[in-house]
Amino acid sequence: MTDLESLRALMEADRWIERVAGQRRHLPESEELAGVEGELRVLAGDLRAAQETQAPVRAAHASARDEGARLAARASDLAVKLGASGTPAGTLAALQKELDHVRELLAATEDRELELMMELEPLDEAVETVKSAAAPLVARRGELVTLVAELQASLDEELASLRRSREETACAVPAALLSRYDAALSRSGTSGAAQLVNGRCDGCRIALAPLDIDRVKALPEGEFAPCPECGRLLLP
Ligand SMILES: [Zn+2]
Repeated sequence: MTDLESLRALMEADRWIERVAGQRRHLPESEELAGVEGELRVLAGDLRAAQETQAPVRAAHASARDEGARLAARASDLAVKLGASGTPAGTLAALQKELDHVRELLAATEDRELELMMELEPLDEAVETVKSAAAPLVARRGELVTLVAELQASLDEELASLRRSREETACAVPAALLSRYDAALSRSGTSGAAQLVNGRCDGCRIALAPLDIDRVKALPEGEFAPCPECGRLLLP
């Protein structure tokens, strides 16, 4: 294998690694997951708001219901006392007066309870609407979390194997050339060499001056000049 061939093999190995790493960074499933999580955050806010509106009405309804039950029990006690024999007429009149009053209060409380129940219905519905909108998203989020983890694990395995074979490929490049390649790689990323294609560096896409092109092409075999723009070793 010539130096040019081993350098090109190394460049291709690094580009391949970069492609797979890029695929891992930009999984469509990860993007969908981010979208689903965003929607769920909005729905969580909607749910809090709906519950905050619902809570005081629900509490008022419960207290009207309890008050109604208390008044109904009191009314029935009073009715029993009124029906008891041997009660003095003065007491009966007082009991009747209290019973009338309790019944008035009870009727008002029942009206209030009904009003609150009607007020509560759409508020309960609003809470349920948000919950049913969130349910399929929560399920999808679960699926996506699993899917992303599986895809990432499989890409990580692929990357580990590509990196192992990249190290083998790197062994075929002479040490001095390899250190220039690695320096260009850490400076520019993706790969430490680039191919000259139609007068352009295919690493950074810059068009080289005709003089630079001639210089690259005139170099003796095994010698490489850096791209004046990105510093990658230019392969003729
Ligand atoms: Zn370049």
